[in-house]
Amino acid sequence: MKKRIVVLGATGSIGESTMRVARALPEHLEIVGLSGKNNTIALQHLAREFPSAALCTGDEASSDALQAEFPNRVITHGEAGLERLASLPEADLVLIAIVGTAGLKPALSALTAGKDIAVASKEILVMAGEAVTLTARRMNRRVLPVDSEHNAIFQCLENRDPSTVKRLILTCSGGPFRQSSAVELASVTPDQALLHPTWSMGRKITIDSATLFNKGLEMIEAKWLFGIPMEKIDVVIHPQSIVHSMVELVDGSIIAQLSTTDMALPIQFALTYPKRIAGPCAPLDLATLGRLDFEAPRTDCFPAINLARRAGTAGGTLPAVLNAANESAVEAFLSGRISFPEIWEKVEAVMEKVPFIEHPTLDQLVAADSAARDIVGEK
Ligand code: NDP
Ligand code: MG
Repeated sequence: MKKRIVVLGATGSIGESTMRVARALPEHLEIVGLSGKNNTIALQHLAREFPSAALCTGDEASSDALQAEFPNRVITHGEAGLERLASLPEADLVLIAIVGTAGLKPALSALTAGKDIAVASKEILVMAGEAVTLTARRMNRRVLPVDSEHNAIFQCLENRDPSTVKRLILTCSGGPFRQSSAVELASVTPDQALLHPTWSMGRKITIDSATLFNKGLEMIEAKWLFGIPMEKIDVVIHPQSIVHSMVELVDGSIIAQLSTTDMALPIQFALTYPKRIAGPCAPLDLATLGRLDFEAPRTDCFPAINLARRAGTAGGTLPAVLNAANESAVEAFLSGRISFPEIWEKVEAVMEKVPFIEHPTLDQLVAADSAARDIVGEK
C-alpha cells in the first residue's frame, strides 16, 4: 500500500530532495499535500506534477491564483492553512521541512490528528521538543528524524537495547571556516559563509553550519528524539560528511552509518520506514573516496556547541531562547547588519537577558522566543 504524504516546505531544499524521492518511488509514496510560502511558481509546478495534492501558500492572493488554475483542489494559505494540511484526513505522514519554528503548530496538529511526522525542521524540537515528543507518545505516533545525523543514529539504534548505549557521536563537517583563525572569522561575509564545503542547503542552515550552531541545535534535537541526556551527546568534526553519525555502545563498539552527501537517503528512510527500498541515491564508493578524517571541534573559536550544551542541559526556556536569538541574528548577518562573530555574541547575551522558566507552557515558550528576537533586533 502507498504511504500518503504531506510535505510542508515543499518549495525548499529539503522539499526538492523529497520530490526526487517521490518521483523515484511512485509505487510506495503518494503526495497528498504540498506547502510553500513565497515561491508560488515552484508550488504551481509541483501542483501540476502531483494532481491529487492539496495546497497551502503564504497568502490569500497566491492561494486565489492557484485556485483559479486548480478549481477542484483544497487550497489554503497562512498558518491556519498549514494546520489544515497537516491534519488532512487522507494523509498518513506529514514531513515538516519549514525553516525555523513556523512548523511547530502544524507538527502538533498532525500528531493530534493521528499522523506520524517526519521532522527536518530541527528548530521545532529545540524550541518545544518536550511538547512534540509528549504529544507523539500520547497519540502513539512516531517522530521520524530526517536530519542526516539523527537519521543515521536512528538507523544505528534500530532494535537495540537503550541500556547498551554509552553515547551518541554527531559528526560535523566543520563548515567553510573549519581552519580559519579568530581574526579571519571577524571579516567573514555572507557570500563566503553561504559556500558550504559538502552540502547544498537553504540559506539559514548553511549559515548555521558555518557558525556550528547547526551542530548545537542538533545536539538538543538528539536529546529529544532519542530521550538521551546532553552529557551523552558528543560532536566530532568529519570534513568529508560521509559518516553521518555514530553510536558508541557500552562494550566500546562504535556503530556508524555511511552514505553519500545526499539528503534523499535520510528523507527516503523516514518516509518509507520501516521499509528499505532501492531509491534515487548514488552508491558510496569508498575506494575512490580514499580516506575519512576526524578531529575535535574548536570550541574556542566556535562557541556555539558549548552554548547549546548549556541550553540543552538547563532545559526550560533556554533552548527556545538560544534558537530564536540565533534565527534572528542569522537574518541580521545575512542582511549586513551584524558581523559573523556577532551571531554567537548576540545569542550568548540574549541567553543571559531573557528570564529563565524551568517548566514553561507552550505559550511561555512562544513568549520567550519573541523576547529573544526583540532583544536581537534592538540597536
Ligand atoms: P529552505 O529555506 O530551502 O526552504 C524552506 C521552506 O519553508 C520553503 O518551502 C519555504 O517556502 C518554507 N517557509 C519558510 N518560512 C515559512 C513560513 N514562515 N511559513 C511557511 N513556510 C515557510 O530550507 P531547507 O529546506 O534548507 O531547510 C528546511 C528545514 O530543514 C530547516 O529547519 C533546516 O534546518 C532543516 N534541514 C535542512 C537540511 C538541508 O539539507 N537543506 C538538512 C537537515 C535539516 P518558500 O520558499 O516558498 O518561501
Ligand atoms: Mg544535519
